[in-house]
Amino acid sequence: MLGKRALVVLAHPEKTSFNYAMKEAAVEALKKNGWEVTVSDLYAMKFNPLVSRDDITGDAKDPENFKYGPESMNAWKEGRLSKDIVTEQKKLESADLVIFQFPMFWFGLPAMLKGWFDRVLTQGFAYTFSSMFDNGPFKNKKAVLSFTTGGLQSMYSPVGINGDINVLLWPIQRGILNFCGFQLLEPQISYSITHTPPEKRNLILEAWQARLEKIMEENTIKFAANEDFDLSFAGGFVLKKEVLENNSNNKYGLTVGQHEGKALPPDNQVKADCTSL
Ligand code: FAD
Repeated sequence: MLGKRALVVLAHPEKTSFNYAMKEAAVEALKKNGWEVTVSDLYAMKFNPLVSRDDITGDAKDPENFKYGPESMNAWKEGRLSKDIVTEQKKLESADLVIFQFPMFWFGLPAMLKGWFDRVLTQGFAYTFSSMFDNGPFKNKKAVLSFTTGGLQSMYSPVGINGDINVLLWPIQRGILNFCGFQLLEPQISYSITHTPPEKRNLILEAWQARLEKIMEENTIKFAANEDFDLSFAGGFVLKKEVLENNSNNKYGLTVGQHEGKALPPDNQVKADCTSL
């Protein structure tokens, strides 16, 4: 089953929701195509999204001055993380593809899913400061955000009232997933789903299933490579001079984040092939 194990993480409380239907559609399509599928239905599991000392069993290294990052890393090394975190880490470890299915809340993630990231992606397991971005522990895994919005697609355009969707995706795709090494597939965005007529909703479900048949063959979103940066405290972890020089004639910056004070490269976070890189 090499390369055919998927984890679907769902963050929606209702079984009658479109998000739940997207999860069901994904599981059906993947299984039909020979995938082994595991689901983390976070509300159904009553997943606890709050980081706390209870995430660590046994004695803290420094109970007087408890720091979650180092304490959780020690606990991970010593097998002392709480059972619910370990269960999710094992699911993640064995997955080749991870689908995150959620409704957009406040221009970002629902707290439930944010809490899953906070607690499951512990230091050591999901990143270290010498093993991050394209050298991160999950560099051989692919991830895709599949989410619904209340707002129309035009509202999330570069001239829309909500602002460019690429800007909203940067913290999640670069700041969380690519930070841990994941290769990002183009997000599956179901805009304005509550105002979409039923027949169109069915087409969206079918298109998602069709996409999943060959999703591992897709190109991934381009991010600047670690080697493009001076990775030292003295150098400040900024883009190397030669990288900036190579892009100097381009009217667009390299990425949404590394925009160099220039115009953002269009569709940088939603299209695999739309980038200055
Ligand atoms: P639902 O309302 O559950 O479903 C949509 C329709 O699909 C319904 O008619 C449902 O019956 C139907 N359906 C269900 N199953 C199927 C099926 N199998 N086949 C066909 N149709 C089906 N929106 C933004 O754009 N930006 C924000 O920042 C934002 N912030 C929010 C913050 C909060 C706290 C909340 C509560 C909402 C926010 N929203 C925002 C809106 C939110 O993103 C939408 O309400 C959500 O994306 C809708 O998804 P859903 O799955 O809940 O839809």
